Amino acid sequence: MKFQAPRGTYDILPKEMNKWYYIEKIIKKYVKLFNYREIRLPIFEYKDLFQRSVGDDSDIVEKEMYVFEDKNERLFALRPEGTASVARSYIENSMISSKRDPKKIFYYGPMFRYSRPQKGRYRQFYQFGIEYIGDESAYADAEIITMGWKILQEAQVPDVSLEINSVGCKKCRKDYHKKLQEFLFARENKFCPNCQRRMKTNPLRVFDCKNYVCQEQLENAPQMLDNLCEDCEKHFDEVQENLKKLNVDYEINPRIVRGLDYYTRTAFEYKINYLGAQDALGGGGRYDGLIEYLGGKNTPAVGLSMGMERIILALEEAGVEFPQINTLDVFIIPMDKKYDDKAIEIMNKLHDSEISAQIADANTSMGSNFKFCDRNNVKFAIVIGENEIKSEEYAVKNISKHKQESVHLDKLTDYINSKIE
Ligand SMILES: [Zn+2]
Ligand SMILES: [Zn+2]
Repeated sequence: MKFQAPRGTYDILPKEMNKWYYIEKIIKKYVKLFNYREIRLPIFEYKDLFQRSVGDDSDIVEKEMYVFEDKNERLFALRPEGTASVARSYIENSMISSKRDPKKIFYYGPMFRYSRPQKGRYRQFYQFGIEYIGDESAYADAEIITMGWKILQEAQVPDVSLEINSVGCKKCRKDYHKKLQEFLFARENKFCPNCQRRMKTNPLRVFDCKNYVCQEQLENAPQMLDNLCEDCEKHFDEVQENLKKLNVDYEINPRIVRGLDYYTRTAFEYKINYLGAQDALGGGGRYDGLIEYLGGKNTPAVGLSMGMERIILALEEAGVEFPQINTLDVFIIPMDKKYDDKAIEIMNKLHDSEISAQIADANTSMGSNFKFCDRNNVKFAIVIGENEIKSEEYAVKNISKHKQESVHLDKLTDYINSKIE
């Protein structure tokens, strides 16, 4: 029997890691700059948590969750996203936040959704997310949006557009729901069965339908943006003012919705137009109602999540060159087995100075050894033979520059250190 990775999963091979490190480094930079702290969350949670927070009638909960029963007949699910766990942990660990002392948290790791695998979409995929908890002011929204924007800019993802919207609050959404439902019911039979069902339970979610016919019907639908209450309108204006101060380019797209009650005000997405259907790299919004909805205190919060695979795919598609990682500083090549002891002695010295070093097999030809160096971006090679041992002078070859210099054994580490910097 030949084993394969399960459908929709894949290995990130060592030679691909440079792409991941490249983006992860940029993410690390921005979470540090804006003072976010990491949280590590379980890979699985009680199924009910997601059912309640992601929503009973969402595609994720209806069709895409990996649900399993443990030996005690408890129902769990592999996490399909991160925010529910953050909110659960916030409540469970009695975290307290305020405008003066917000909890600024980030997470990173695999998520799981049972959907049809396609380019850039997997059943196990990696997400990065940030949450700003405890502050309802528009600055918090703008900071979250800015971080995602800056990360994508610095990674050099080309032609990203940032689209923002406001989905209002409990107060103004009630009236809007009525207007929208009136509009939808007047054309009920023109929508797909799924939309017909949703217009009764959760009319906003009709906007999420991918069906072209449904989208066409929605062309003249009333928009939340035209129906915001005074407070929501002010908040949305302030988000935009702050984005301008933070030098972020955005467009307003009234079609961006979040179909759940706990979502409030700001909603946003980062989009590109060269990956076909996979046009969103990430997005997020304000979810002032979630923590209370899950049993905590009324706590305002805003967050975003981004899909790592899509960002990498976008960069590949755009032909962006990822920096190579030099993993090995020095390849030590003994010309005969009897010089192995010396090779180990030199390797120890190098390791003591935090220089990476590996010893070649003494029976391998010089040609193969230098091919190894080229293939692996090795910086230096040191050959050990009879003359070197006697004189204690070693030829240090700089692989990429095709140059070599003679260096005394005692000066080897200093020499290599000075060249690496
Ligand atoms: Zn409102
Ligand atoms: Zn539809």
